[in-house]
Amino acid sequence: MADFMEEAYRRIRSSVSVSSAEPASTLPKLEQLDAARTSLPKLSDGNYLNGTGQQKTLDHLLNDIAPALNGQNLSGRYHGFVTGSTLPIAEVADNIVSAYDQNVQVHLPTQTIATEVEDAALKMLIGLLELGDVADWEGRTFTTGATASNILGLACGREAVIQARLPKGADGVGELGLLGACAQAGIRDVQVLTSMGHSSLSKAASIVGLGRKSVKELPHSDHEPWRLDLHAVERELKRQGIASIIALSAGEVNTGRFALTGVEEMQKLRDLADRYGAWIHVDGAFGIFARALPVDPEFSRLKAYAAGLELADSITVDGHKLLNVPYDNGIFFTRKASVLTSVCQNPNAAYLSGGASDIQSPLNVGIENSRRFRALPVYAVLLSEGREGIAHMLARMVRLARGIAQAIKDSPDYVLLASEAASIEDTHIIVLFRAKDERLNDVLVETINSGGLWYVGGTKWKGQKAVRVAVASWRVNVEEDLAAVKQYLASIAQQHKSG
Ligand SMILES: *Cc1c(COP(=O)(O)O)cnc(C)c1O
Repeated sequence: MADFMEEAYRRIRSSVSVSSAEPASTLPKLEQLDAARTSLPKLSDGNYLNGTGQQKTLDHLLNDIAPALNGQNLSGRYHGFVTGSTLPIAEVADNIVSAYDQNVQVHLPTQTIATEVEDAALKMLIGLLELGDVADWEGRTFTTGATASNILGLACGREAVIQARLPKGADGVGELGLLGACAQAGIRDVQVLTSMGHSSLSKAASIVGLGRKSVKELPHSDHEPWRLDLHAVERELKRQGIASIIALSAGEVNTGRFALTGVEEMQKLRDLADRYGAWIHVDGAFGIFARALPVDPEFSRLKAYAAGLELADSITVDGHKLLNVPYDNGIFFTRKASVLTSVCQNPNAAYLSGGASDIQSPLNVGIENSRRFRALPVYAVLLSEGREGIAHMLARMVRLARGIAQAIKDSPDYVLLASEAASIEDTHIIVLFRAKDERLNDVLVETINSGGLWYVGGTKWKGQKAVRVAVASWRVNVEEDLAAVKQYLASIAQQHKSG
């Protein structure tokens, strides 16, 4: 068995090794996808559950399945979605997680160090993101990603804004459910106020019983729809019989831009929320990492936009995006542990409690009970890279994104979008653009992606097709990647003109 494992790990490593001479492909070839598809077990084959043994299975996984996966981890030029890659130390830590398969659901300090490592990682993240004193973020946990963190954010917000309108000491949503608690509190509706909220916010609203229609877009203007209109927020907060959660896009997933201009607006919003009993949730999946960029004038605008986020009631952070740990990994912070336990507490299970400790049993502060030791890769990255190493990794991502934005601006063939009145220094890790020629624009995303050397996302901006570049990998090499991207763009435009 030991031999099999060693050989398997060796083969895995060799299958993902990337040579510096030849950049990894961003996409598998169609033949590789076809071959993988054909290799899948056929339910019509009566023998399909007979078991082929581990050696044959490993061969199948490495020879058929692996070549048909995309290059999001292996190529620094996979700029679709916001995927991130995996730092080597994070992959190593993740293999330790699998090898030990530690369940991290109950705080068992005489039996395993896992919950304490998890808490150490969460506290280090509070430090990295400069959110203030760890005591101000008593509610903290690892999740499966920003979607799960947004679910917790809306669940906590719902719990708190309704509880605030109930008599002191009364049961809240966690006990009574949304309908019962709202009836007792005299609340007709709970609304989620946002600007270009991520689609997962609407999904979260559905899951926690508020409904997708509870999410209300309050854009500051046509030009800057990612910005939240604070006057509209105040108008909404004044409505009688309606409780509100404010969800800040920080940053917004199509443009990377921030809902607020900085600490002054955030303080205003905080005052409004306090006056009207609203909850502020920050969806900072990738944007909050602007706070961890190097202290340098180059990044001061971004840092200003992200300043003040520490005044929120709850915060979503993604691990598997800019922090470059493997899927699936997210983080959730909220101020009071009691709000999180009101939502997530397992009842009547004294054996599940963490005992006297400031470390909560994860099962009472998160969605899952049994769960993976997903804190370990984050812990490893924070230890290995430190504040400075992470700052430099993030800076490389921003510099490449800005280089691409500038190249688009300078190009006769393409237009940089969402950039009216914006400076290049407003660019974080996302660049949105389109081709000037409509016919090229129609096929631009497919043309870029079919080359297998660069991968971008397709989206819409103001009703028209657009290309979205999201730079999120530690593998970024600013000079080389920028030169390559410029060349792809120029040659695509050239071929279109001559073709
Ligand atoms: C990616 C993203 C999400 C969803 O995150 P998952 O990690 O995919 O669950 C939510 N909000 C924002 C702003 C995002 O960028």
